[in-house]
Amino acid sequence: MAGLRIEHLYKRYENSGKKKKVQNDYAVKDLNLVAEQGEFIALLGPSGCGKTTTLRMTAGLEEITKGDIYIGDTLVNNLHPKDRHIGLAFEDYAMYPPLTVYDNIAFNLKAKGVDKAEIDKRVREIAPLMQCDDLLDKMPVKLSGGQKQRVNIARAIIRRPELLLMDEPLSHLDGKARQAMRTEIKRLINDIKCTTVYVTHDQLEAMSLADRIAIINFGVLQQYGTPAEVYDDPVNEFVASFIGEPPMNILETTIIGEGNHFLFTFENSNLKIEVPERYNNVVSNGFKCKMGVRPMDVLIGGADSKGTPEEVATFENLGDERRIGIHVGETLLMLITEDETRYKAGDIIKLEVRGEKTHLFDLETGERIRSK
Ligand code: ATP
Repeated sequence: MAGLRIEHLYKRYENSGKKKKVQNDYAVKDLNLVAEQGEFIALLGPSGCGKTTTLRMTAGLEEITKGDIYIGDTLVNNLHPKDRHIGLAFEDYAMYPPLTVYDNIAFNLKAKGVDKAEIDKRVREIAPLMQCDDLLDKMPVKLSGGQKQRVNIARAIIRRPELLLMDEPLSHLDGKARQAMRTEIKRLINDIKCTTVYVTHDQLEAMSLADRIAIINFGVLQQYGTPAEVYDDPVNEFVASFIGEPPMNILETTIIGEGNHFLFTFENSNLKIEVPERYNNVVSNGFKCKMGVRPMDVLIGGADSKGTPEEVATFENLGDERRIGIHVGETLLMLITEDETRYKAGDIIKLEVRGEKTHLFDLETGERIRSK
């Protein structure tokens, strides 16, 4: 098992003339990333942000434009994929249809000339880990999506890789199967303790699986941190709104001074929210920025609440939680409540916002404004 170190990594695709999409800019720009030995990291970001390109360069399947990749202490830039001691599990299962599950799992070891008894020992070690021991005699065509995915991962880990690279391995599975596989992957990685890089665009998957998450946008790393860090302490508006479901509410605001404190105010709205005191040195009367607050930090006050009366615009009942939307000027402010009242559009509620939970972002750049 080895760690991974990516230093100043760039990728620019040359326009081959065959691809309609001309890629003039870098698909990956100055990426620096370290996964410690045994760490599980997720590359997370919207479609086209450069996650797969990064993984493919790490695997040796894509040429590096600039920069260095180390697996353990070895610079692997010019190493053939088969010499990088990696296991690959990509979203397409790529199994050999004429071979049984057993032979599919054993394939790479056979190709390497490992002896039959050793192969058999390893297949029978891995199969129960991936809960595919009862599938060994089956043909791939007989497998469900979840079963195929388990075999796919078994094939990747049987070589005892130093580094396991997974690209959207659960993308073909539907909700329930996805959830089940997520739990299995977590258990498996715990068992084999392999350094893992996991590509996903699903923030829930990244949050639940990874030790650290690298959030990427337009080829640029935005933030690299633990799930708690990226959720509680986002560096910019992009990270704040990408992590969390429903996403953080982000509203343009003008701050006004009132007495010895400041309030967030919003165009065409009576809503006023207290600015946390720690920002007193960075804001002033008339200061414009964006305010972010998570839906669970917006509350419905009781009968004697001093909250602002606001009209319910949307109401969704999701069983264990309810989501309410309130118009604040042009923006729909979302709140989540466990309150069992069935609200409807037009109902009036008293809105209380936990001022101490708000974040401030620069109006132009979206960068987080920090308290001093
Ligand atoms: P997805 O989640 O949709 O797979 P991604 O984050 O993995 O997206 P990449 O596949 O790495 O993103 O793509 C990054 C950028 O590079 C995109 O703009 C994409 O169009 C471009 N790109 C990817 N492969 C090629 C290629 N072979 N030739 C030209 N451009 C490419």
